[in-house]
Amino acid sequence: MRTDATVVGSGPNGLAAALTLAREGFRVTVLEAADEPGGGTRTFADPAVDGLLHDHCAAVHPFGIGSPYLRTLPLDRYGLEWLQPEVACAHPLDDGDAVLLHRDLDETVAGLGADGAWWRRLFAGPARDFDALATALLGPLVRVPRNPLLLARNGLLSLAPASVTAAGFAEGRGGRGAALLGGVAAHAVSPLDAPGTTGVATLLIAAAHARGWPVARGGSQAIWRAMVALLEELGGEVVTGVRVRSLRDVPRSRVVLFDTDPGQLADILGDAADAREQRRLRGWRHASAAAFKVDLAVRGGVPWAAEGARRAGTLHLGGPFDTVAASEAASSGGRMPERPYVLVSQPAVADPSRRVGDVEPVWAYAHVPAGDAAPDADVARDAILGELERAAPGLAGRIVATHVTTPAGFAADNPNLVGGDITGGALTLRQLVARPRLGPDPYATSVPGAYLCSASTAPGAGVHGMCGHHAARSALRVLTR
Ligand SMILES: Cc1cc2nc3c(=O)[nH]c(=O)nc-3n(C[C@H](O)[C@H](O)[C@H](O)COP(=O)(O)OP(=O)(O)OC[C@H]3O[C@@H](n4cnc5c(N)ncnc54)[C@H](O)[C@@H]3O)c2cc1C
Repeated sequence: MRTDATVVGSGPNGLAAALTLAREGFRVTVLEAADEPGGGTRTFADPAVDGLLHDHCAAVHPFGIGSPYLRTLPLDRYGLEWLQPEVACAHPLDDGDAVLLHRDLDETVAGLGADGAWWRRLFAGPARDFDALATALLGPLVRVPRNPLLLARNGLLSLAPASVTAAGFAEGRGGRGAALLGGVAAHAVSPLDAPGTTGVATLLIAAAHARGWPVARGGSQAIWRAMVALLEELGGEVVTGVRVRSLRDVPRSRVVLFDTDPGQLADILGDAADAREQRRLRGWRHASAAAFKVDLAVRGGVPWAAEGARRAGTLHLGGPFDTVAASEAASSGGRMPERPYVLVSQPAVADPSRRVGDVEPVWAYAHVPAGDAAPDADVARDAILGELERAAPGLAGRIVATHVTTPAGFAADNPNLVGGDITGGALTLRQLVARPRLGPDPYATSVPGAYLCSASTAPGAGVHGMCGHHAARSALRVLTR
């Protein structure tokens, strides 16, 4: 059968690339190494608790609901439903209270006391302009902006480190506003004094106020299932269990898009790529911190000390700004943090269908040093459980099953997660603007018709499909020639 385009990898970017081409009438085949499509949007069954589902990677979807491309797809017709928790995110403090990030900006500001004014000043504009900003920013950063005034007004081009921005709160870096900001900025998996960390936090906070931080009903698998169903209706297909190792494994097609990491792409292209391309792909830097994840089955839910935390879909643990900053500096610097920053999702708060009886899934991961510096599994697991217990005394007695994924486990399951890096590549200033390279078409390679479309391209990690969509638009220039 004729195939116009092959996509290697069926993560959200691979599927977005495939859909972009299929909607233009081209015939697309997606090859996926795993037994199931979806990459970072897969959901697995708890081996110990019948019917309990855990999201393998992505669980919370500010970028999914806010994605300028995904919003153009009728995914709701194929079963995708976003469910909003009452509170988008809670940041428990060591005194038993928690700072809350509400969808409503005024409610958030009211809870921040003296710090509220700086929060409003930082985020009211980006929240108001979120849809336009997402369109402007969720793509290659280096291009002629269509709306320069919008970008200038919101200050998002400012690459200020979060540590500098946090110092602007009335209570300084020790207060409630800074704690909330620090927990969000740490999604960058970078030290919080690194340039660009304010930008990452701003986009996530603006998304929270504009569209919320929802989960997908039934788990993140609902996202890939809807995308695959739509693709099949448009005549495309996904073939699982096929790991592409060289161009010989790719069926004859006019264009090939790779939802892979750059190192794999260098191997696959081999001699077809010129020496400069090979050097560039092999020189790609992955984050020096990796994810270490613990999925829990918890009877009766997590007994958070702070009442507000019980209503939140997402939680950031790790204490005040400086403690979170110390954790991120340690994990990025090759040291296991004394007190790790932990991201938690409790999806049943928004989606009661995730409960099995009174047992619910809890997803928690920390940033730990990658590679040889990675901690023993027991050490990392206990550190995460320790942070959870600190914010929710009594949790240990409610855990009925624990499932651990180490950085090496992530990499073994999905070759894109090199060393457990969940960002697709370190967010250095260079890799932020040249993602993966500078030029009018950053998705193209030196091999005609071959494109990179994974989270290692602009705009980077997250379930938004924008990398795949932009790469496919480049490929369309060849297909429609
Ligand atoms: C622990 C964790 C938590 C996360 N939490 C969130 C979150 O809450 N919200 C959010 O928005 N994002 C989150 N992310 C990030 C998000 O999952 C990724 O940024 C996103 O999935 C990247 O999409 P992708 O299509 O580029 O790659 P992936 O989703 O990684 O998919 C790549 C696919 O390609 C396949 N593949 C790779 N190489 C080959 C090959 N050679 N041949 C065939 N197939 C191949 C892989 O098997 C995989 O299925 C998280 C990630 C992790 C790991």
